[in-house]
Amino acid sequence: MSPLEQLPHTADVASSPTEAEPLPPPPTYPTNPNLHLSVIHGWEHYSLLVSPREWRSICSIIIRRDNRTCASCAYMSPHPNGKGLRISYRNGVASDYNDHTNLILHCPPCQAIWNCDISGIEERVLLANSDMEQVEIVRKTRKMFEESGRIPRIREVDPLATRTDITIIDLADQLKAMKREELTEEEKGLRGFFMPEASDWFEITMAPEYVSRAPLLDT
Ligand SMILES: [Zn+2]
Repeated sequence: MSPLEQLPHTADVASSPTEAEPLPPPPTYPTNPNLHLSVIHGWEHYSLLVSPREWRSICSIIIRRDNRTCASCAYMSPHPNGKGLRISYRNGVASDYNDHTNLILHCPPCQAIWNCDISGIEERVLLANSDMEQVEIVRKTRKMFEESGRIPRIREVDPLATRTDITIIDLADQLKAMKREELTEEEKGLRGFFMPEASDWFEITMAPEYVSRAPLLDT
């Protein structure tokens, strides 16, 4: 089990009892084309306040409210109960979970970008300099994964991407200490690309016909 899956704020809601109920209309707020590498704040106060049962209930409410659609890349889970989708915090502050307007739905790859301090530890996201929008990197990676059953290499996603010596941990430390606008120009130009170890992030929300073509996972 990955660290992302161990954290209560990423609770899998596959066991939601609301599966048979009709889904609400899509949310009215726009998807987020400005998905970028971000960090989560307030986590240290969060785990003491919410129980797993309460969190599953909140997840179920948000999945229905947002019609099981990722707020950043607009991917809609084919699973009626939103299997694999996760909750992120619009303001990046985990302890503000009681305000449901602060809760947004993310597919696992978008959440890995949104919480790069957590995903960076796993080395399943690698940084490179790229002019592509982050959300387009997620969408293109998913499309290529669905077609080939494997995570594409960085240069397959963006042929013009270039290496950087900045690690995702370095960037997360910077984002913990300052606002995004205060980063250097090089740091602002960094994007997260997905490594082969990130396959399950794309696979878990996919329809079964795609999963059958995807590579087997280490379990
Ligand atoms: Zn997404």
